[in-house]
Amino acid sequence: MDTTWMSQGKCREVDPELFFPSDGVGVIRARKICAKCTVSGQCLEYALANQIEHGVWGGCSERERRRLLRSRRGASLSVSSV
Ligand code: SF4
Repeated sequence: MDTTWMSQGKCREVDPELFFPSDGVGVIRARKICAKCTVSGQCLEYALANQIEHGVWGGCSERERRRLLRSRRGASLSVSSV
């Protein structure tokens, strides 16, 4: 998987710890940085493809990524059963 986008991440300009928040306020803080990032789409897809469990990636928390994966699995199951 191509990871060249990582060198363009907005998070490279700040403390990496910000992306491993312990509460919702921290998630919001990280998400604001991701919102200004030009590679957030690639970042989110990378985290989903690699099932990264910890941290904020592509503006999504762990819980949001789990939800996204579940909904994608559900969508692909319903397509395959048609
Ligand atoms: S979307 Fe967020 S975590 Fe991903 S590269 Fe950009 S700033 Fe970093």
